[in-house]
Amino acid sequence: MFQPGQMMDRPLLISGIIEHAAAQFGSVDVVSRETHGPLFRYTYADCAVRSRQLANALKALGLGPGSAVGSIAWNNHRHLEAYFAVSGSGMVMHTCNPRLQAQQLVYIINHADDEVVLFDTTFAPLVKGIAAHCPKVKAWVCLSDGDNTVAVDGVANVLCYEDLIAAHDDRFDWPDFDERTGAALCYTSGTTGHPKGVLYSHRAIVLNALSGCLPGVMSLSPKDTVLPVVPMFHINAWCIPYGAPIAGARLVLPGPRLDGASLHELMEAERVTVTAGVPIIWLGLLQHVEQHGLRFSTMRRTTVGGSAMPAALIAKFAEKYGVEVRHGWGMTETTAVATIGCLTPENELLPPAEQHAIVARQGKSLFGVEIKVVDENGATLPRDGTSQGELLVRGQWIASGYYKGEASPLVDGWFPTGDIATIEPGGIMQIRDRTKDVIKTGGEWISSIDLENAAMGHPDVAMAAVIGVKHPKWEERPLLFIVRRPGQSLGKDEILAFLSERVAKWWVPDDVVFVESLPVGGTGKVQKAELRKQYDGVFS
Ligand code: ADP
Repeated sequence: MFQPGQMMDRPLLISGIIEHAAAQFGSVDVVSRETHGPLFRYTYADCAVRSRQLANALKALGLGPGSAVGSIAWNNHRHLEAYFAVSGSGMVMHTCNPRLQAQQLVYIINHADDEVVLFDTTFAPLVKGIAAHCPKVKAWVCLSDGDNTVAVDGVANVLCYEDLIAAHDDRFDWPDFDERTGAALCYTSGTTGHPKGVLYSHRAIVLNALSGCLPGVMSLSPKDTVLPVVPMFHINAWCIPYGAPIAGARLVLPGPRLDGASLHELMEAERVTVTAGVPIIWLGLLQHVEQHGLRFSTMRRTTVGGSAMPAALIAKFAEKYGVEVRHGWGMTETTAVATIGCLTPENELLPPAEQHAIVARQGKSLFGVEIKVVDENGATLPRDGTSQGELLVRGQWIASGYYKGEASPLVDGWFPTGDIATIEPGGIMQIRDRTKDVIKTGGEWISSIDLENAAMGHPDVAMAAVIGVKHPKWEERPLLFIVRRPGQSLGKDEILAFLSERVAKWWVPDDVVFVESLPVGGTGKVQKAELRKQYDGVFS
């Protein structure tokens, strides 16, 4: 017999987050880099006031529960207000990745039925190019004050954000509704075919954001100042814009300035303790810090994910700068972080290189997420650290389908990630490759990630990428791309000799291409498809 518990049935809603922050951490700062340069500073209480004004403004524009509002914006305070105003009023916050191609942006804005799109001035040229193709958008709102709002040639319905909200009441009764209601929408990058939409529920976001605050995850608390470099336009900035106000942590939003010098200056000026971003961002930051002999006076922890964090970078952060790296894994379909590593006291007794090797794995699944690896027939593989197969996930914040999608992607209730992984007996998961990137050679597999990590261990290497190229005898063989560190003259023989000491002989790449830079996609990952296209046939 069902015996209900006697607790109140209060839904987990995003409006509750900002109202909690306003009530309990009302005087805590939010610092935000304006797109035109200066820093803007206010509090969670101010953020709540303006979120309510925006909620009223959107209502006045004729939007209501279920409407979608797009954003093409940096991490800044107006974007943050939209996160709360839009989802809090029962609408869908559709964050658009400005690095998508214009026709993909048009596709997602139309597919999501966006009625209003918020944009930063940086993206005015983009809006100019796409507005005519987005007939359902009633208003394009420039996230700026009157002085800095830009006219967009040929687009009549451009409004200024500050003018839009100024006229509206700062009281708004956030509606109560089912916590499983859609709150935010993010499209995958769509490397093949159209981008696919992932519609996050309030429940998924709140649960994930709460988990992100845990000490073994990002550890957010009132003691912290957190700077999410990871964009609010992709996977909710790993839910930090929700987690920080839940935890009462100060929030620092870097706006458009993501270069090493600007980030370091902001971290120091605002006494940032925790950061989060993709490895390529930290590469730029560390280069700047090393070149100028700088330190981190307050930064203690950084959460890294999106692509594999090489052990060499982990070592540099830990040994040279005293910064702990928390390496996590997740994807658009997992709301934000799904697995993350954290060293135990026993781990900390190991030699540093062994500790970094543990951190270089992608860690354990958070409570709320289950993981397993399966072979090509779908049979679960042992958790022995060596059996590798496709990683499957399920849990309270894992997608069960795609927005307006027909076929369910699930396999027996699990989401197939397209990543190849191993799981150790203790539960630590390691991503070996993406299914599409793994190099198949002579009936065996080579992990492009492991090879890249090994190459990154060479002091003259700034960036490395490995792809499999068709080979007449071996099916595929690895081809290595190297971006040298400035001023270095590393040659092919030297890097191959370096690798031969670190990987199996048959893993050593057949050739090396030295390049000035690598193609990086909208989410900070090297675009291997581009490289494959360009170098297809070089071993034939
Ligand atoms: P896309 O780049 O295709 O839009 P996402 O941004 O959702 O997709 O990225 C998810 C993918 O990024 C994962 O499936 C995985 O391949 C990769 N990824 C994420 N975190 C890590 C990590 N820590 N190490 C290696 N790969 C990672």
